[in-house]
Amino acid sequence: MRRVDPGKGFESWRQAARSLLAEGVAPGEVMWEPGTTASLFGESEVAAGPPAKLSVPPAFVELAREVACHGDSRRWALLYRLLWRIARLGERSLLEIASDPDVAKARLMAKNVRREIHKMHAFVRFRKAGEDEGGRERFVAWFEPDHFSVDSAAPFFRNRFANMDWSIFTPKGCAHWIGGELSFTGGVEKNPCDDPDALEAIWRTYYRSIFNPARLKLKAMQGEMPKRYWKNLPEAELIEELTRTSGARTEGMIAEEGRAVRPAPRNGYLGRLQELSEAPPMKDAASASLVEIARMVQACRHCPLWEHATCAVAGEGPGNARIMIVGEQPGDREDLEGRPFVGPAGKLLDKALAEAGLDRTGIYVTNAVKHFKWTPRGKLRLHQKPAAGEIDACKPWLLAELTKVAPDVLILLGGTAARSLLGAGYKSRKHGALWMPRIWHHGWC
Ligand code: SF4
Repeated sequence: MRRVDPGKGFESWRQAARSLLAEGVAPGEVMWEPGTTASLFGESEVAAGPPAKLSVPPAFVELAREVACHGDSRRWALLYRLLWRIARLGERSLLEIASDPDVAKARLMAKNVRREIHKMHAFVRFRKAGEDEGGRERFVAWFEPDHFSVDSAAPFFRNRFANMDWSIFTPKGCAHWIGGELSFTGGVEKNPCDDPDALEAIWRTYYRSIFNPARLKLKAMQGEMPKRYWKNLPEAELIEELTRTSGARTEGMIAEEGRAVRPAPRNGYLGRLQELSEAPPMKDAASASLVEIARMVQACRHCPLWEHATCAVAGEGPGNARIMIVGEQPGDREDLEGRPFVGPAGKLLDKALAEAGLDRTGIYVTNAVKHFKWTPRGKLRLHQKPAAGEIDACKPWLLAELTKVAPDVLILLGGTAARSLLGAGYKSRKHGALWMPRIWHHGWC
């Protein structure tokens, strides 16, 4: 019997499940034990080989993401059983059999999670909890969920309360929107909202979790936050320790991220793209990680499109994806959810990828323009094509993503994506679909 740690959520479970599947370990031979020290990946030969590439229906990935948030510890075994049946036993249409006990159980779990997210949206109440050192108000809320749903619920609050700093504390994880950055920390046992000491301890934990040693600039930090103010900041006592250990932590991050933090090659088109992405004012993006790029994009004001959008939508997918797909811009649905390709165009893309036998979760998807451009028509927000100036303004973000992912295959969907990367000379109507040594464009409708 294998004892396997599913990790903290869907992504870590997926990695573990892929490796088990590649080894041919049947569901009955696996015990999913969160936090187990005798983890498969700590001691087994599985850790040495790359996880198997899987092709599963997008509907399974969607369902599994929701089930992974359920509070029942048996969810991991259930998901692996479903995965095994779909990928190993060839039951590709399994999810369409509503009467199947595994499918029914998974669908019920997903429903419970969705219902709880809905409840969080309706019942979370923020209250003021002081101000930060810059005089900006902080708001906090307490919620006791049955499931690990705070991560999924948080984008709603980010979109609704983008102009205030807030934290949602729960026993199953906490979400923070502070200084325009969304982050998550572990759960807290008791409601800290009425206890100033407990709140300070949590601010410290939060500060430790967001501290990035690779981006430490001590002089700039002291310029912004002179030492004489440190005594009033709950996180200040951590600064010395964190700066002292930043060198070792940076090395650790480099070792961990491997190719993700390696500079992109300077030859060929990737070199050209990196040079372009070094142009001001977004030159920091060229050396940022994908997560940092996504955060920087949220704060971007380089063209007028941000003003009428709910949020910016950065790319999504593995940082080492071999395929990258670039669309035009987020649509109405993407603008509300903060994720690319989740609206009608996303459904079409999912269908096309499924027909091509490709797993979307292994692909990096993004857009040439990161904010939704629209015009009102009654209650609707109608899509508008971005202007050339807007496409060019947003190009450094796309280049930064491209140099970071460095895919083998780049697919440009539509004229805007092609205009962004191939230049104004390319006309999809005139030139049609193009195969290039490294770049493929196809008109998408
Ligand atoms: S569309 Fe692009 S350039 Fe314009 S504000 Fe948004 S992120 Fe910045």
